[in-house]
Amino acid sequence: MIRSNTTASGKPRTSRSRALALGLAALVSLPLLTSGPAQAKGNFPSPEGSTSTASILTYADTIKELEKIEKTSRYGVDVFTLAEAGTAVNTSEQGRDLYVATVGDGPQDVWVQGRIHGNEPYGAEAILSLLKDLGTNGSAQYEEIRDAFTIHFIPMYNPDGSELNIRQTVLWDTAANAPRKDANGRDLIVDLNRDWVADKFQARESLAFYEYWTMVDPDYGIDIHHQGLKQQYGTGDDVTLSLGISLAPGGPTLPTLEGGAYDVLTRQMHGYVYEELKGTGYITMDRYQVGGSLEIDIKGGVVSAMMLGLDYQGLNPEGHSNPVVFFETSGNTSDGSLGQKARGKSIQQNILAMRTLLTGLANGEVQQTDPEVWEEIPHAPVTGYSTDYAGTIPVTP
Ligand SMILES: [Zn+2]
Repeated sequence: MIRSNTTASGKPRTSRSRALALGLAALVSLPLLTSGPAQAKGNFPSPEGSTSTASILTYADTIKELEKIEKTSRYGVDVFTLAEAGTAVNTSEQGRDLYVATVGDGPQDVWVQGRIHGNEPYGAEAILSLLKDLGTNGSAQYEEIRDAFTIHFIPMYNPDGSELNIRQTVLWDTAANAPRKDANGRDLIVDLNRDWVADKFQARESLAFYEYWTMVDPDYGIDIHHQGLKQQYGTGDDVTLSLGISLAPGGPTLPTLEGGAYDVLTRQMHGYVYEELKGTGYITMDRYQVGGSLEIDIKGGVVSAMMLGLDYQGLNPEGHSNPVVFFETSGNTSDGSLGQKARGKSIQQNILAMRTLLTGLANGEVQQTDPEVWEEIPHAPVTGYSTDYAGTIPVTP
């Protein structure tokens, strides 16, 4: 069942009113998921492994699972569409409903988005799994997260691209039920993660989720992606998880925001995750870089626009902003490089990374982390910044 999740004021309802059964939490203590025995490194994901898209969640699977979780959860999971939340634009280009699930009744809001790139599937799987745990697990760690935060999970930001198994989405002529075309008769294709820009917002998904973001005004964000296969600088080990910040710490932009607060906090967020997970045998981490040694400084990315406090169409007049980090799992479906054998571990590392970060933010350990840990996360010596506004900006030695 999908319930409306808006109050009379149009503000998304938190599940504060449904904080039922908290008394039961103390009676039940389920063991947390563990990371399993250490695995040999160097063969994960396997580039030889074929990618069975049959095991990847479809849009219909995602809705079915959301409804099941809402029905069986003990701690107030609310599943709703953006139509129910009351955004003016509220479907995908092809008319699919856009889903959000909230859990927790804490005073701070966290935005967690998956699958903005349709060929990057495991954000959806990992979000559904963590949502289920937060909705059912009475142990102290999950209770701490629910008490601190109201989490807004978006398992599938890009349902059309997911169904098409492509990174982007296709702009759609709903009257003709066909792709919109450019002057040369080609389908109009948009990367949703480059569309939160004042002169863009070409896709309905962007308008819909942007408005929802202005309704929530989150305190933190997490964004889940996949990348190509890569090796860790210095060791040559296959990387399973890259830790990224879309506006580079110490770069041209981030230190100028909020008096430098996000430059510190995003380093602490990833520094904490790195410290906590570096002993997990099957996870090999590094910093997300492109072109071998470039940090990214992309202002048009969705989570960059959040950090920049973008005000589009007067929907964010107070200039709300929030820090966001992203996780990149190696391999994707359209390259066929996910490696079927790595599926469980690829999903699990995202669950672990999200849960670790949420726990550390809730108990304050993230905010106590030395931001210099960012420099300890394996990375190539930085030679420049790859930007979407000034080409590559070299680092002056
Ligand atoms: Zn991506």
